[in-house]
Amino acid sequence: MTSTPLAIPGMNERIAAVLGLGKSGLAAALALKMSGARLWAWDDSAERRAEAAAAGIVPIDLAHCDWRKPEFLVLSPGIPHRFPTPHPVAALAQGHAKPVIGDIELLIRAAPDAGYLGITGTNGKSTTTALTGHVLKRAGRESAVGGNIGTPALALPRLGGSGLYVLELSSYQLELTPSLGCKVAVLLNITPDHIDRHGDMAGYVAAKAHIFARQGAGDTAVVGIDDEASRALRDRLVAAARQRVVPISARERVAGGVHAVDGRLIDATGEAPLEIMDLTAVPTLPGEHNWQNAAATYAACRAVGLAPAEIAEGLRTYPGLAHRQELIASIGGVRYVNDSKATNADATAKALACYDPIYWILGGKPKAGGLAGLEPFYRRVVHAFLIGEAAPAFERQLAGRVPATQCGTLDSAVEAAHRLARAEARRGAVVLLSPACASFDQFANFEQRGEAFRSLVQRLAEAGNGRAA
Ligand code: ADP
Repeated sequence: MTSTPLAIPGMNERIAAVLGLGKSGLAAALALKMSGARLWAWDDSAERRAEAAAAGIVPIDLAHCDWRKPEFLVLSPGIPHRFPTPHPVAALAQGHAKPVIGDIELLIRAAPDAGYLGITGTNGKSTTTALTGHVLKRAGRESAVGGNIGTPALALPRLGGSGLYVLELSSYQLELTPSLGCKVAVLLNITPDHIDRHGDMAGYVAAKAHIFARQGAGDTAVVGIDDEASRALRDRLVAAARQRVVPISARERVAGGVHAVDGRLIDATGEAPLEIMDLTAVPTLPGEHNWQNAAATYAACRAVGLAPAEIAEGLRTYPGLAHRQELIASIGGVRYVNDSKATNADATAKALACYDPIYWILGGKPKAGGLAGLEPFYRRVVHAFLIGEAAPAFERQLAGRVPATQCGTLDSAVEAAHRLARAEARRGAVVLLSPACASFDQFANFEQRGEAFRSLVQRLAEAGNGRAA
């Protein structure tokens, strides 16, 4: 099926500036061009400019052009326009009072009649977005999933009035989308992150809170209450009483909301609490963090009219996302789990909390903080297999607490972990790649690292009598 491309109205012969020609910027540039705009597009990277030129976009240096002429600047979310210092081109646009917007703003102009279900939070955005998309699709609702995850906004199909765009929205994108009005807006959690880009914690919370800004009667705010900043935001929304507010928690029962304490998903929005399902039986949603994601998905899908049983069916059949505690195979009773997306200790903690005993593969390009906060999980770790630049420092941090081997590369770590796990044959054993590090010392990105793990494990599975998951 080919879908109708999105056209942005009112752009004919207008000049549109686009800075940043990665996946989303290039899709925006092409959509603007197709809508009749005269394009001034640029990327600081010569490689990106060459890719754009190959797609028919002739680069124009935005640092040296007449800034009275463009209608607006479309900025890629990775490029700062406020903190720590605005990119010079963003500063030029602002100096000429030109709106600085993102691709989601253009999507709203192109499809003003569709419904918008926005999802933000410090952690869990991609999972909740993919999960919500899956539940809606399975229930037969016309919907399209994109934004920060997968398909860029302006490469999504056109949806009509009954369609629903399910969008993963980072705090950067939220700042660049002044017209966003979500029928359902989900905020999962807020913990300190990306503070450099928002000035301070208050700036970060304000950017996240923007997801609720244009909601009104008939709209729903789904708000996680398992951290202080989100809880305070819930209180403010309830006090302002502009939209319906549904609190969600994976830690506590919450009257009038949806909770998933110990994985039991309960809808307490009605008169009597309704037990929906046992999330511990869903292998693709392990751990309390995923129960928060599932509770948010449930509340969001209820708000757009799905029945509890339809949502439960969708949750049960969720296929999972690659590189996030993804079960690759079981070999001789040992499970092999790819959590390459865990690029910091916080994310790794979520995975360590789910398994016992663990043969843990970690390391890569170190992040500030190292392994701090992971100590409570060390008793679950039988052995650590260290790779990459962080390995020597990690060995010192683990000394006397977790036996560790310097493996250098992922290949030797997988081999060594496999050998030991097979020899020890412990019940419930898991070989877990959850690096608590960036990948850039040995791989192009976390996806490539996860793919390397997948093929190494699959090779082992083929050699032994493993089952691919
Ligand atoms: P994001 O898109 O916000 O980066 P993902 O869904 O890709 O989030 O998950 C990234 C990592 O964050 C996961 O591997 C997991 O360790 C952790 N995580 C997922 N959901 C949550 C949550 N609700 N709360 C805290 N951590 C989470």
